[in-house]
Amino acid sequence: MTATLPTVPLLIQGEFVESATTQWRDVVNPATQEPLARVPFATADEINAAIASAKAAFKTWRKTPIGARARIFLKLQQLIRENMADLAATLTAEQGKTLADAEGDVFRGLEVVEHAANIGTLQMGEFAENVASGVDTYTLLQPLGVCAGITPFNFPAMIPLWMFPMAIATGNTFVLKPSEQDPLVTMKLVKLALEAGVPPGVLNVIHGGEDAVNALCDHPDIKAISFVGSTRVGTHVYNRASLNGKRVQCMMGAKNHAVVMPDANREQALNQLVGAAFGAAGQRCMATTVAVLVGAAREWVPELVAKAQGLRVGAGKDNPDVGPMISCAARQRALNLVAQGLEQGAVLELDGRGVQVDGYPNGNFFGPTILSGVKPGMAVYDQEIFGPVLVLTEADSLDEAIELINSNPNGNGTAIFTQNGAVARKFQEDIDVGQVGINVPIPVPVPLFSFTGSRGSKLGDLGPYGKQVVMFYTQTKTITQRWFDDPASMGKVNTTISL
Ligand code: NAD
Repeated sequence: MTATLPTVPLLIQGEFVESATTQWRDVVNPATQEPLARVPFATADEINAAIASAKAAFKTWRKTPIGARARIFLKLQQLIRENMADLAATLTAEQGKTLADAEGDVFRGLEVVEHAANIGTLQMGEFAENVASGVDTYTLLQPLGVCAGITPFNFPAMIPLWMFPMAIATGNTFVLKPSEQDPLVTMKLVKLALEAGVPPGVLNVIHGGEDAVNALCDHPDIKAISFVGSTRVGTHVYNRASLNGKRVQCMMGAKNHAVVMPDANREQALNQLVGAAFGAAGQRCMATTVAVLVGAAREWVPELVAKAQGLRVGAGKDNPDVGPMISCAARQRALNLVAQGLEQGAVLELDGRGVQVDGYPNGNFFGPTILSGVKPGMAVYDQEIFGPVLVLTEADSLDEAIELINSNPNGNGTAIFTQNGAVARKFQEDIDVGQVGINVPIPVPVPLFSFTGSRGSKLGDLGPYGKQVVMFYTQTKTITQRWFDDPASMGKVNTTISL
């Protein structure tokens, strides 16, 4: 059966080509286990060919007028809108998330494409006249060369679109290595990018896992790497690529806490918490997976459980509240962590482990699960579960909640629910986390800003998309100029003008 499956091509020099590798893996529908396609692990020669193609294309692409670059992304955003339903259906089939979430995944990437279309105003240098008498200084933001992107499985549309549009719009060429678990929607987006006018060699795609990533980290012709994924792999990529002299940014794992103050709008806070913990089956780097109940908010647990119990689990294409997890292995890992949590003394408030979905006996389903009495030191607290599991912990005061969050190794996202502005302001000032929501559970910034991250959730100074990524994908060159007066030529110029 596997032999008849469609294969996922590589993209080298503007051509979609079949890999010559002998190593393949199936892309599997997580709701049914149906194999959808086979993805290759590209050979070293193919990876080198993709990089060589990007290197050659850079020679002309870097000199392409900024307006011509921008117009490609104007066209791409239009093509993405026209193909939204097909992109979302593909994403749901291979990744599992609901169709509504899949459209959201594409849409959040589309916003970055729209931003890339404004590159004209983003990639501008600075100018100071008369820094000394008759001397001016100005800066150019020049592209770096060949850049590479390595993406995770959980946002297979948004995260590739965080990367290649901004890299290419700033004048670089690109080699993308999508997640081998769900590369199909990424390939559809890449095809649309070519249709929008990205020239051959400017965007290349290779597939694979560890070996492909290491090859990108080691290759001397790659100048910068953008990575999004787990902390373990991201730390490896950062260290390996940095040692090879590359500019690297790694957006990594999370354990996001939401502080629920007793003065919060109870109905709103609990609804938002449930959506943020269990939406996309908890497989969002910004999922809220720890609720810190402060003071009397501890009494809200039964209501929280009732709301989570009401969520419908099912296949993403039927648009339930919670779709399947990406793989049997990911589900089993989450099951093991919950079992470990219970052994370590957590209390099971809601158990979704045995959920059954009619018509889908083989899906990787995991219903909303809530554990209370959780503390640092327990596996369910210390590790990112990346499944629909919310753990509850308690604090007596805002200060205690802030201390707990700041002591966690991760600093990706956090939220506070309160009706008190002074409490919210103190939280915003003292919390050491990249993305902070005030009565907003998943505060992913729009592309006018940049995604960020503190402590263990991010390595590298500059974030993806937004203004920061223009600095990431460019090298600042400072020019200081002086022109000496030449009376003879000035006279000549004057004569010409007066004629
Ligand atoms: P992952 O780290 O397993 O994979 C990410 C990429 O690295 C993939 O392309 C994969 O092929 C590659 N890879 C996997 N193992 C490797 C190895 N040993 N050596 C080199 N490369 C390897 O991550 P994932 O499971 O696909 O995604 C989930 C993780 O991503 C979670 O930890 C989540 O928090 C994180 N994430 C973070 C953000 C963010 O912005 N901070 C956004 C989305 C996801």
